[in-house]
Amino acid sequence: MEKRNLICIGCPLGCPVTVELDGRNIVSVTGNTCPRGDAYARKEVTNPTRIVTSTVRVSGSITGAATVSCKTRTDVPKQKIFEVIRGIKDITIPAPVHIGDVIRPDVAGTGVDLVATKDVE
Ligand code: SF4
Repeated sequence: MEKRNLICIGCPLGCPVTVELDGRNIVSVTGNTCPRGDAYARKEVTNPTRIVTSTVRVSGSITGAATVSCKTRTDVPKQKIFEVIRGIKDITIPAPVHIGDVIRPDVAGTGVDLVATKDVE
């Protein structure tokens, strides 16, 4: 029986959660204070994902902004995070940019769009 110790990232409490596995089967989840911790732990040991946040360069902003913040619209597989970051590091987009604009569709082949999280005029 394998034990995986995790810290739940569902809220600032950061509960220590233990998952017991029998091969690929989850036998138990303990230590969570609420159901979100159980769901997080089960997903983390079977299909861990994260939203990636970053910035990309902007050209021609009338306010002089050099970058705009961005994020993947939804979670991407954890093992794809570095590919996503590599895929966006050389992007420069022209101003104006608005919240929700798609900066890079299907970023790093994840099927998830990279979108702006700020307005830049
Ligand atoms: S288990 Fe619940 S209370 Fe504990 S960190 Fe996760 S979300 Fe917060």
